[in-house]
Amino acid sequence: MELDLATDNGQPRPETTRDDSPFAIRGLTVSYGDKPALFSVDATFPAAAMSAIIGPNGAGKSTLLKAALGIVKPVSGRVTMLGQPLKRALDRVAYVPQRASVDWDFPARVIDVVLMGLSRELGLLRRVRPHHLDKAMTCLARVGMDGFADRQIGQLSGGQQQRVFLARALAQQAEVYLLDEPFAGVDAATEKAIIGVLKSLRDDGKTVVAVHHDLATVTEYFDHVFLINQTRIAEGPTVETFTAANLQATYRGRLALQQIDRLAG
Ligand code: ADP
Ligand code: MG
Repeated sequence: MELDLATDNGQPRPETTRDDSPFAIRGLTVSYGDKPALFSVDATFPAAAMSAIIGPNGAGKSTLLKAALGIVKPVSGRVTMLGQPLKRALDRVAYVPQRASVDWDFPARVIDVVLMGLSRELGLLRRVRPHHLDKAMTCLARVGMDGFADRQIGQLSGGQQQRVFLARALAQQAEVYLLDEPFAGVDAATEKAIIGVLKSLRDDGKTVVAVHHDLATVTEYFDHVFLINQTRIAEGPTVETFTAANLQATYRGRLALQQIDRLAG
């Protein structure tokens, strides 16, 4: 049977609404007190793809993710996750915050951090059964951290902590994965481990969206890019969108011209 995708008035849905996107933002405006951070931002992130959010420091990248998750309250705008308002889809969204924003002194073992990702399954009594532990250990193994289950999270290196937080996100078995600078301050081995896991999520049909600051790896890592500097500058497939002109518009003179030429055509 063929599905009729026409709207009520018989016209095909215009491409711009794309309500079937797993993660879409419309008219998002955010202000901290009277200091505006985002102006009427529209964004549409595709399924089964890795998307990068790119822009200079202070461009509002972290704010975009936080507002999309309801952590920061927007002035206006609408977020749909998996075709539903945010509230109804939150348990299918996993978030790995910027590492610098996490308090690493809280006393918790690595395995406990990963078990937090299973809180929906653990229920209110939080009774951990053997199969929960198995699941948590499987997630730790996927990021190469299964040998560290009993260590205190605060005693790990930055890269190891980042892997544990990715394992927690994996335990959630989400459809949409939002990561804020997952490669910031990690060693090369961790970067490779993380990108491998993210690509396998993408290949399983998940939606992966990461704030990314290393322009040199954008083409290699990401299928889709979203360029932002308080407003949306451009979005689309990396090959078409990660261009010198778009980078200039995004960084407004904050990148040297030769640098831009080297990165994008
Ligand atoms: P990015 O992640 O792109 O570097 P942010 O989203 O962190 O940018 O910040 C965007 C702007 O909002 C910056 O000017 C920043 O100083 C400001 N900002 C971010 N968080 C807060 C906050 N909690 N209170 C006040 N201003 C903030
Ligand atoms: Mg940030």
